[in-house]
Amino acid sequence: MRFAHDTEVGLNAAAELVNTATGSGTGTELLPDPPALAAFLDAWGFTGDRAGDAAELAGVHALRAELAEMWDADTEGVVAVVNRLLRDGQAQPQLVRHDDWGWHVHATEPHAPVPHRMAVEAAMAVADLVRAEELDRLGRCEAEGCGAALVDLTKNRSRRFCDASCANRTHAAAYRARRAAG
Ligand SMILES: [Zn+2]
Ligand SMILES: [Zn+2]
Repeated sequence: MRFAHDTEVGLNAAAELVNTATGSGTGTELLPDPPALAAFLDAWGFTGDRAGDAAELAGVHALRAELAEMWDADTEGVVAVVNRLLRDGQAQPQLVRHDDWGWHVHATEPHAPVPHRMAVEAAMAVADLVRAEELDRLGRCEAEGCGAALVDLTKNRSRRFCDASCANRTHAAAYRARRAAG
């Protein structure tokens, strides 16, 4: 099953947001200040108004914690978070087309607060997974000491690692273990 492009982007953006926290992936706070958040928003093509202040950053940090918890929740738990984010973000889905994007859904106004817009975008994407009964596409990197959130969009659901370095590290360790045993 293939998901809509904006669903895939929304899922990957949500995973990367989760992984900016110290508890996931690098172990470093990757959104320490408003300029870091601005760079994140630019990288993921978020349009619309930004406050660029500490309150906005705090809202994004709170959302990040909610998404991290949702990542590991069962279906009922995921649904509860998705519905709350949609409700609190006052989601009103509209088809739009801008820049290089084809028709896709925006469920918030461009002047809505950044944490609301990020929350609703993530929630809309995860809602697609729930409807398709494909929540198992949300996973965690299996490399020792990593645990980064990941989205497995491969056909045969073969993704185990967040990036090539985690994959290489794990394969090298398995190789050393085999050699030591043999
Ligand atoms: Zn858009
Ligand atoms: Zn990893």
